Order: sequence, then C-alpha cells, then structure tokens
Amino acid sequence: SWQNVPLAPPDSIFQLTAAYKADTFEKKVNLGVGAYRDDDGKPWVLPVVKKAEARLLSSPNLDHEYLPITGLPEYTSAAAKLILGADSPAIAEGRVTSVQTISGTGANHLGALFASRFYSFNGPKQVFLSNPTWANHFAIFKNVGVEPLTYPYYDPKTIGLDYEGFVGSLTTAAPKSIFLLHACAHNPTGVDPTKEQWNKIADVMLEKGHYAFFDCAYQGFASGNLDNDAWAVREFVKRGVPMLVCQSFAKNAGLYGERVGALHVIAPTKEASDRVKSQLSVLQRSEISNPPTYGARIVSIILNEPEMFTEWKRDIETMAGRIIEMRKQLFHLLTVELKTPGNWDHIINQIGMFSFTGISPEQSKALVDKAHVYLTANGRISMAGLNTKNVRYFAENLDKVVRG
Ligand code: PMP
Repeated sequence: SWQNVPLAPPDSIFQLTAAYKADTFEKKVNLGVGAYRDDDGKPWVLPVVKKAEARLLSSPNLDHEYLPITGLPEYTSAAAKLILGADSPAIAEGRVTSVQTISGTGANHLGALFASRFYSFNGPKQVFLSNPTWANHFAIFKNVGVEPLTYPYYDPKTIGLDYEGFVGSLTTAAPKSIFLLHACAHNPTGVDPTKEQWNKIADVMLEKGHYAFFDCAYQGFASGNLDNDAWAVREFVKRGVPMLVCQSFAKNAGLYGERVGALHVIAPTKEASDRVKSQLSVLQRSEISNPPTYGARIVSIILNEPEMFTEWKRDIETMAGRIIEMRKQLFHLLTVELKTPGNWDHIINQIGMFSFTGISPEQSKALVDKAHVYLTANGRISMAGLNTKNVRYFAENLDKVVRG
C-alpha cells in the first residue's frame, strides 16, 4: 500500500554531517552542525552534568515510574524561573503554565499545536517567522495547520538586522498576529536586536495586540550570562505582551540527545492559566502521554542545587568564551594577517553559536568541494566548529574563495 509514497528529500544539515563523516581528508572542518565542540573538535560533556549524573545514579530511591503528564514538577518550576527570572511576578501570581517537552523542537510543536487549537486568530491561521529562521519552524507550524509567513529580518547589504523592515511588518500585519521571535542568538544569522530595538518591537506588538511566540534555544550562549540572554523575554513579560516561551537545554547543558525542554505559557490571570494547563495536558497526553525522566532529572539537580548551578554557569562561560575567542581569532586572521577583501566586522558583532559570513552559495560550495570545509549553502558557519587548530586553515580557504 506504500507503493506510491513519494521520496522525501534528506535533511540538509544531517546530510552535510554525513558527507563530513565520510570525508577522509585530514584537515576537514565541520562548520555545519549546531552543537558545541571543544578545542579538539570533540563533543563536550559538561563537568556539572557528569556530577549530576553520578549523583542521580547513586540515589537509592530511583525508580522508572511515569512522570506526570506535564513533566517533573521540580524541573518545570526551576526551568520557568531560569527563563522568566526567579523573582518573576508572573510566576508569583500563578499566571505561568510550564510543561516539560521533547526539547525545544517539542516545545515549538506543542506551542504551535496549542495556538492552532485555541488562539483567537484574526482571520486565517498564520504565523510570522523571521526571514531567515531555523528551517524546522516552517515544518512545525505547517504540521498543525498554521500557515507560515515571513517578516524581513536579515539585511544582506549590511549583514545585520533589517530593523526598518521588521518594524514595518509588525506595523502592517493584521492586529493580533502571531510573531515568532528568537529570544537571543538568532539562528541562523547570529544577529539580535539591541535592547532599544526590542523595546520598540514591544511597543508595536502592544499597540497592535500581537502575540509573541518566543523560541529560546540558546540561553547563555549569546553573552555567556543566563540572565542577560533572557532579557528580552523578561522585558516582554514585564510589559504585558501576550506570549509564550519555548525552552531547550540541548545547547546550554550539552544535553542534545536527552531531549530536555519546556513550554511556558503566560496568561493574564491565574484562572486563565489553570485552563491553559488543562488543555496543554490533554494535547500532551495524546502525543507523548508522559515526558522522559532522565534529562529532566539531571537538569533539575543542576537548577535546584546552588553549588551545581554555580558550576553550570562556569561551564556556560567556558563554552560561550571559547566561541567569542574564535570570533576574535577569525576576525584577526581575515582583517590583519590575510587582508581578505571586504568588511568582516560582523564576525565579531554577531552573537551566539552561528555566524552569517555573507559569502554566496557558490563560494560556500567551493569551500565544501575544494577545501573540505563543510557549511550550509546560505554561508552560515557554526563558530563552535572552529578551534585553535583549524581556524587558520579555515581563514585561508575563506580568503581564497572570496578572492575567487
Ligand atoms: N529553535 C532553534 C532556533 C534552534 O536552533 C533549535 C536547535 N537547532 C531548536 C529550536 C530546537 O532544538 P532541540 O529540539 O534540539 O532543543
């Protein structure tokens, strides 16, 4: 009966990783994947995660019972405080519903599904996504019957934010539109609004009654500081912009495969929040019944124990610091040593794990084909794939393709 199923195209990022793995060239570089690597190019298990795991596995009362439908309560409540702030009035007032999800992807899915069912759309079911955005956002919203539209975000001319275009879109969109916003460290561009710009975005969203669908997959990765990176989200809550937040511990705790995430929906009253929670529970029940225990237990230990939490912040600084150092080294090589034509300020100005280099699809392809440097066709590089051993090789080859 599946004789006529059409062949789907492979996922381009995972295809790139497969090509990298199959390549036997010694100096090959993988700048495609959005996962942290240490200075030896290896995955890094955070020391605090190792400690939390050891503690968890030695605990005598560990069982494998089901979690509640909405997840491990001590995990979800600590996760809410992490993103919204420990002293968040919205939490104190009981206006936040937090549900444990299958990492950030699951949070986006559950948030999209909830919006599709219960948001009072002003017309057709649509969501505005930044152009460009994490490609999966399109599929996630389409899957639940919400049509993705885009708003201008990245300006190739400045290799920065198209602020006028963004605000223009907020202004002209029908009232009560849903806008997906990257909380920090925008993927794939590495370009974030400034605080001043966020404030203006909040002004227009309030004026128009728009809904903010925040996706926060990189808290800690932008600045190295968890509170700084949650600034926009907290400011929007404070100003009363209607919103939800999708949260992931894949990157900031290096728990990619454990699928630890949460969806936090902020409601105007506790009473509305209780109804939101009841409906999210019904949706979650039919999809996964109960979220997985292991990663949530680890993150719960890290968030709830002050010493572990302090150590985690140091680990995050280690990761963010190494990425910032790679930006500096790459910038220095291009501008001072190699004198590569063009302006490279964006390498040090962009934020988080990714950088939009501004090179063309042809130049990106030349890097893959001729230099064994793997990156996506849009010219995005994962800074985490660079290290002290390969940054010069990369800079020299980037210089070559830019010179043509
Ligand atoms: N949102 C964005 C913007 C992302 O970049 C990612 C990871 N690539 C995610 C969500 C979700 O990742 P995960 O499901 O692994 O938490």
